[in-house]
Amino acid sequence: MKYSVRGEEMVSQTRFFYVFPMLLTLVCISGCFSKKDDTTHFKLADAIKFENVIPVAVIGSGPAGLSAAMYIARAGMKAFVFGGPTPCGQLTQTTFIENWPGREKVLGVDLMNDVKHQAEFFGACIINDTVTHADFSKWPFTMRTEEGREFKALSVVLATGAHPKILSVPGEKKFWGKGVTTCAVCDAPFFIGKDVVVVGGGDSAAEQVFELAPYVKKVSVYVRGKSMRAAKLMQQRILAYDNVEIEYNKQIKAIHGDDSGIKTIDVYDSEVNEIESRPIDGIFLAIGHTPNSEVFKKDLKVDDLGYLIMEGRSQQTLKKGVFAAGEIQDRVYRQAAVAAGEGIKAALDATSFLYEIGFNTKIGQILEDNFFETFSDDQVELQEISLLADFTKHVIEEPGLVVVDFYSKTCPGCIRMLPSLESLAHHLKDKISIVKCNATTSIDITRELKYNLGLQVRKVPAIMIFKDGKFLARTDEIMNKKELFAFVNQYVQD
Ligand code: NDP
Repeated sequence: MKYSVRGEEMVSQTRFFYVFPMLLTLVCISGCFSKKDDTTHFKLADAIKFENVIPVAVIGSGPAGLSAAMYIARAGMKAFVFGGPTPCGQLTQTTFIENWPGREKVLGVDLMNDVKHQAEFFGACIINDTVTHADFSKWPFTMRTEEGREFKALSVVLATGAHPKILSVPGEKKFWGKGVTTCAVCDAPFFIGKDVVVVGGGDSAAEQVFELAPYVKKVSVYVRGKSMRAAKLMQQRILAYDNVEIEYNKQIKAIHGDDSGIKTIDVYDSEVNEIESRPIDGIFLAIGHTPNSEVFKKDLKVDDLGYLIMEGRSQQTLKKGVFAAGEIQDRVYRQAAVAAGEGIKAALDATSFLYEIGFNTKIGQILEDNFFETFSDDQVELQEISLLADFTKHVIEEPGLVVVDFYSKTCPGCIRMLPSLESLAHHLKDKISIVKCNATTSIDITRELKYNLGLQVRKVPAIMIFKDGKFLARTDEIMNKKELFAFVNQYVQD
């Protein structure tokens, strides 16, 4: 019995020694098959039959997107970056960055220009357009853009970042851009001597304060809770300003005004449970961000706040061939340098994926030969005017149509529109002339406009059209290329 048991044990052990490796082999084989399956449906031979297929599409041009593009380009692959609505990302809306390794203090916009030039130097192609539709259900992945481009990509790096949250209170929409904004770095110079509120208690709120305090009469910071979450150093710096007051337990409940802008706000104090009406000229929101995953989440997975869910510790999303980096998938760290690192990881993951499915330089060349759309655009660099004499000569005394682009160096809307204006200048070179004017530094020109022509530059970008020296039309909207062309074309005679 004992023996038989032992015998059975032996038999079962023997069985185990035979059966286990066999099972293991089967599991392995099926694993290998499923893994193979995983990559065998990425048939490059089929993909190269399409036109306009790019090896890697990088969507978004902040630190994550541009760092990814640089690595992809350095790997010898064609990287196309779709710049999106905020070219070079959210850092262009901040003032000084002090926590980028190797740079003690650098303007956000300057840092991002450096990163962009580095990516371009290695061959990345940056396109001033926004991806509005994406289909990741079939490979190669298909995408469409705001300006009507349609293309396919063998792999994608999503680096669209996040957009600022809004309060969703009555009056906010109505006065958006007319006193309510999220960009102090763009609009602070238009609030000289005024009373403004910054809403929020994080690092972004602190940055808005630093930008506003030198210009305005008073900044009130409304923190909805009992404490700020901004870095201690930032909080100490805020306290150094005489014209800044931090008010805790305060929330804006409604915004009121008239055609000239905001007049009053209803402020709720959660400690005393009362609402009070207060006069105010401007509201700067800094209440956090929402990830820009809306266009892509149909075929991917997002969490309760809209952040993309990733595969393990890699930068791959749950869809093979689609990678992501930066704030679209990071709800924890949300730092520019972290986004850059993740962009690099995503690039390495994307290039490994491409090699895994058999991509090589020969295939890269075949794809390039099949681009019916070159993705490029001819542009003319705009002439800059800064003195009143320039304005008189190039706008008032200039016969025909002149378009003036009033911008500021750090305004994302201005940065976004510049390539479209440069393209417009090329396409209509025989019919119009376009000049640009930095509204925050060209004080004589903005004064002349305000006091002698009745044209105030209240925010940037502001585009004005003159004909034979006379004012014809203006727009303060941020337009895409199509909208801008349509707007200007109304005034162009054949
Ligand atoms: P945070 O999420 O850190 O802070 C948001 C703030 O807004 C909080 O004080 C929050 O209050 C408040 N808030 C949220 N919703 C509302 C609402 N509906 N009404 C009123 N108040 C509201 O966002 P930030 O944009 O400040 O920062 C995001 C990330 O970017 C952080 O990791 C930050 O460190 C980083 N960053 C770094 C900078 C730098 O280093 N130079 C500059 C800017 C940002 P509550 O605390 O009660 O939730």
